[in-house]
Amino acid sequence: MATEPHALSVGGVTVEVHRKAVKNLHLGVYPPDGRVRVAAPLAMSDDAVRLAVVGRLAWVKRMRAQFAAQSRQPLREMVTGESHYYRGRRRRLAVVHHDRPAAVTLRGRSTIELRVRPEATAADARAALARWHRAELRKLLPPLLEAWQAKYGVAVASWGIRRMKTRWGTCNVAARRVWFNLELVKKPPRCLEYVVAHELAHLVERNHTPRFAALLDEHLPGWRTTRDELNAEPLAHDEWAGK
Ligand SMILES: [Zn+2]
Repeated sequence: MATEPHALSVGGVTVEVHRKAVKNLHLGVYPPDGRVRVAAPLAMSDDAVRLAVVGRLAWVKRMRAQFAAQSRQPLREMVTGESHYYRGRRRRLAVVHHDRPAAVTLRGRSTIELRVRPEATAADARAALARWHRAELRKLLPPLLEAWQAKYGVAVASWGIRRMKTRWGTCNVAARRVWFNLELVKKPPRCLEYVVAHELAHLVERNHTPRFAALLDEHLPGWRTTRDELNAEPLAHDEWAGK
């Protein structure tokens, strides 16, 4: 059983507290905005949670400062030579001018070619790349959704792709609706699969209980490593600006 999370303020930091059937308190700071989340045993009082967080406040603040520094990175300029990730691989952007609507093509193993009109601005180029990312993810997700619905014996009512600042995916259990973060197209295929496996697992087991973990253990050994890999990296920020 897990209860609804609530917020505590500790030393000026807002901490999201989730009470769960866990033995020990777990504290995490998550990119991109340094959200602080605690999983605490059901019987632990708020005062005990507060004390535990105070003991690690220096670390929490250090992590938050790091994420803040990362999020201050400037917008991508969308010029030839920039690095852009696709499915976990770093590719060199090649911007080519043409007189037709924008298009994106993967060239070889290390280039991503973006064709835009000569008058296109960096914002136009970013938008064109984001449209392509969305279309790619629309193609990549259905086979994974098929496979994981079959594995769990569940059915999704609807799914979609969104820009999200703090989540890789979400699942509305009552509506059987799942959302995936557009940024996942930049991550290795195992990360995309993990997020699909995770969100659909909520249709079997609503909360992050031991049973939830056991379900993932059974169907996706190694998921913890992939989860940590996803959480270690900030969500990209360059394309969030102005949204
Ligand atoms: Zn979850």
